Amino acid sequence: MELLKNKILQDGQVIGGNVLKVDSFLNHQIDVQLFNEIGKEFKERFKHKEVTKILTIEASGIGIACIAAQYFNVPVVFAKKQQGSNMDKDNFQVEVFSFTKNKSYNVSVSKKYISSEDKILIIDDFLANANAASGLIDIVNQGEAEVVGVGIVIEKGFQNGRKFIEEKNVQLESLAIIESMEKNNIIFKN
Ligand code: 5GP
Repeated sequence: MELLKNKILQDGQVIGGNVLKVDSFLNHQIDVQLFNEIGKEFKERFKHKEVTKILTIEASGIGIACIAAQYFNVPVVFAKKQQGSNMDKDNFQVEVFSFTKNKSYNVSVSKKYISSEDKILIIDDFLANANAASGLIDIVNQGEAEVVGVGIVIEKGFQNGRKFIEEKNVQLESLAIIESMEKNNIIFKN
């Protein structure tokens, strides 16, 4: 997606530990017009799939998922992050390792919001090693629903995430795939 790639080149900052900072349009300040184009593009990439719900993870996935959901006409459910001791029997839960925070945390979704009839599109801002996306797939599986795909805004193609998602036979669509990145030099794959 050219518009997104240009925005990354213009405003993205590569910081230590393989992290791309995109706070000015994606993770802190939000470029709503860009999100609108991202939403349309996700709809285009998954136009042949029946989707009943979009699932994401708080916080950064929520805005992207909500705008995309307007094109799919479905509700958004976001997995909540919470402390490990705070277990609730009415939740689907999974432990996720955070790439940016370098620690594990539990995420949960109320059993009320995923049912066996659901066909779920998972959306997130980044794909690194697929811990977040795999955790969300696990939650969908706990609910005996179907994962129809994973939509990612920025995939870091030099990390292992794609391999893990494709091993699960799930359609993965990333709107920008970074092949390599160094300070002032970001190279895209697609
Ligand atoms: P994964 O779970 O695939 O290893 O990492 C994806 C999650 O970590 C995303 O939900 C995102 O919040 C965060 N993340 C991973 N890499 C980056 C990055 O380079 N920049 C930012 N801003 N977030 C990242």
